[in-house]
Order: sequence, then structure tokens, then C-alpha cells
Amino acid sequence: MIYSYTQISQYLRCPRSYRYRYLDGWREKDTRAAMVFGRCFEAALAAYFSGQDCTAVLFKEWEAYRETPLDFGKGSSWDKLLHQGVHLLHMFAQEDRIRIRQPGKNLQLKMARSLPNGSEFVAYIDAIGEIDGQQYLIDWKTTSSRYPEGPDGLLSLDPQLVCYSWISGIRDVALVVFVRKHLPEIQYLKTSITDEQCSEFGRLVESTISQIEAGEFLPHSGIRFPLNGCTSCSHLGLCLGNQPLVDSSLIRRAGASDLDWLDQLMD
Ligand code: SF4
Repeated sequence: MIYSYTQISQYLRCPRSYRYRYLDGWREKDTRAAMVFGRCFEAALAAYFSGQDCTAVLFKEWEAYRETPLDFGKGSSWDKLLHQGVHLLHMFAQEDRIRIRQPGKNLQLKMARSLPNGSEFVAYIDAIGEIDGQQYLIDWKTTSSRYPEGPDGLLSLDPQLVCYSWISGIRDVALVVFVRKHLPEIQYLKTSITDEQCSEFGRLVESTISQIEAGEFLPHSGIRFPLNGCTSCSHLGLCLGNQPLVDSSLIRRAGASDLDWLDQLMD
């Protein structure tokens, strides 16, 4: 079996949801405009570091979805996302704080780690490069609101960064957050992960996989009013037996669970 961060985090969020997605093949329909745009924007960033015209690449990638019926959310549109993306790319070039040497080698790196039970854990790292002259493992994010910057040390608890540090052996990690708001902004959030956090994460991976392989998939949404995790779960229709809700948000692709580590490319 091949496991990824997305799989482990989905199991920890709700084991039943994991079963729906990875064993039964229920997948969320790919209609969220922000997510699709995020992928186009990352292609433009790769073009930027390869010395190509990144705004042209953004337009070309995003143009492919101009007629696709996507969920844009309140106040957003195809044009607005494009405009925000171009603004952010210009700002990124002007600020010029990041260097990626050998972009062919240091962007979208695939890393794999063998696990004691014979399985493999695979991760795709967005970039390894310098921010303000210091080397970091970098994860790009596009979002419509700022990431919280406090209290001090908060970012070092980010489970995805801990996972990437564990698999890569790189302890200095950063999120570069492209905030698509009225006045676009780029956050350069840096932190360090400790050896202890990495060894704890390794143990978490092993114990999670042993529960998965033992077939433990009890529903566990972490409900606590008003943060009912079920309300934002794409599998809610399955748990409620609500077919119209299933039809509106899910599609079933059985038999592809071996390729699910590829989901990480879409996170
Ligand atoms: S709706 Fe709730 S209980 Fe059902 S899979 Fe989603 S999070 Fe789990």
C-alpha cells in the first residue's frame, strides 16, 4: 500500500469518511473554483521560476476552465480570480524574496519513505529553496483569507509541515501564502520543526495505518457545537442516506485507491 498525508489526515478527521473515499471510491466532485484556480496558479509559479511568462501561463491554464460550471462562492468570478492571480504574481516578482536553484529538480519533488509494515509513504513537496537567503522546504498556498500568525510557534504545529519535515529530513519549513483578497497580500510564514515532532509523527503514521489495516472505520466527526465537522464533510449525504446530497457533491470511482497519493497534488 502507498499512503500519503492526505490519507492519514482524512482518517484522523473521520475514519468513516476515509472508508467512503479510499475503500468505496466516493470522491468529491471537482467543482470548487478556488481549488481549481490554486492548481493553475501553482503552474504559473513553476513557470516563473523556469523563466517563462508566468501571467501567460496562468491565463492559459485558467482559460481551460472558462466555460466549466464551477462553484465560485459569493462575490467571486472567473475574471476576478484571474485578476487577483495576476496581481499576486506581479507582487511576488517585485518582492523577489525567493530563489529556487535548479527548478527542474527543486519544484514538485516526490519523496518516499518505507514503513515498517512494508507499505510506503509518499509526499510531493512544492519547493526547496531560499527565502531571504536562508534554505527552506516551501509549501505554496492560495487562499481568500490570511493565515493566522500568532501566537508564536503556532505554525510549527501545522501537521502537513511536520509531515514534510519528517519525510524530507529538512527542519526549516515555510508556507508562502497567496491571499486573494481585495488588496492581495503574500505571507512568508517560516518555522522550524523539532526531531521529537518528527519521530512523534512517524509513530502517528504507523498507528494510523495499523488501524486502517485492521478495518477500523467508526464514524468520528469530532462534533462539538458549533463546530460540527459533518457540516463541511463531502460524505454527509452518505451518512444521512440523502441521495440528492450524494448526487450533488460526490462521484464514485471505485478501484483506484492505489493512486490516491496523487491527491496530494491537489491539496
Ligand atoms: S458526515 Fe460526519 S460521520 Fe459521516 S463521514 Fe463525514 S465526518 Fe464522518
